[in-house]
Amino acid sequence: MESITFGDVTVTRVWEFFGPVAMTPETFFPESALSDWEEHRSWLVPHFLDGESQIVQSAIQTWLLRSEGKTILVDTGVGNHKDRPYAPVWSRLNTGFLANLADAGVRPEDVDVVVNTHLHIDHVGWNTYLQDRSWVPTFPNATYLMPKPDFDFWNPANGHKPLLGRGNQNVFEDSVAPIHEAGQAHLWDGTYRIDGNLRLDLAPGHTPGSSVLTLESGSDRALFVGDLLHNPIQFIDPDVNSCFCEDPAAARATRRKLLGRASDQHALVFPAHLGGAGAAEVTREGGSFAIKKWAAFTPYGQA
Ligand SMILES: [Zn+2]
Repeated sequence: MESITFGDVTVTRVWEFFGPVAMTPETFFPESALSDWEEHRSWLVPHFLDGESQIVQSAIQTWLLRSEGKTILVDTGVGNHKDRPYAPVWSRLNTGFLANLADAGVRPEDVDVVVNTHLHIDHVGWNTYLQDRSWVPTFPNATYLMPKPDFDFWNPANGHKPLLGRGNQNVFEDSVAPIHEAGQAHLWDGTYRIDGNLRLDLAPGHTPGSSVLTLESGSDRALFVGDLLHNPIQFIDPDVNSCFCEDPAAARATRRKLLGRASDQHALVFPAHLGGAGAAEVTREGGSFAIKKWAAFTPYGQA
């Protein structure tokens, strides 16, 4: 299954990449216990951990939402032809993402709203594409919703110097600034209501402007949490951060708060990068969380 309906909203999964991301559990999640990876290995392999190489598996994907007649994209992946000197796994890609979007019935001009949950390399890539040596908006009719704290954090005009190895070099210049210059960026702060079903709220920690998109339609609930977590091992130990979390203490607190809310409200949790079923319902278990039920999306690599 590639689409799930929540009340009046349809959610479709659009693939850009799935595979190993050149990092072991120890490098990607330095705080995680290797015993947890061993204990849960039977279901972490193959969708979340490659059994042979012991490399973490990740998906880069866009959640396509249709709500109140509007076409909305949540996160725009890595993009094609982008120069990423410190993130070779994402450098100068040439994927069929736009064809996959077309398979889901969406042409670039159909997109009304783009949500960048935060402004990292793998969430803004398809904001733009290369045309005659210039980066231009991929979705010419869309309003791009960007969290203002992230825009300010990475804006070179504010003197931010990216940390070596963080991989966000060139990203503001080729995937964020062209949208702002085209007048298509809406920089929001605090909270922002998209429509009667969808609301954005800041959820800082992973980055200063990381945000969560809440879907509430009828009695159905879903949370699109961006990189609040990257791997289901963080459901099991919500104190485990990725090595990319800018503010580790805030990231932990936000993760616990949002997973608690999701479990109390029976909301399906959509992290940006889960392979496998892509999303899960969680439940409180002791001081942590357990996976209650996986979503019905077909895992990548399976018919
Ligand atoms: Zn990410």
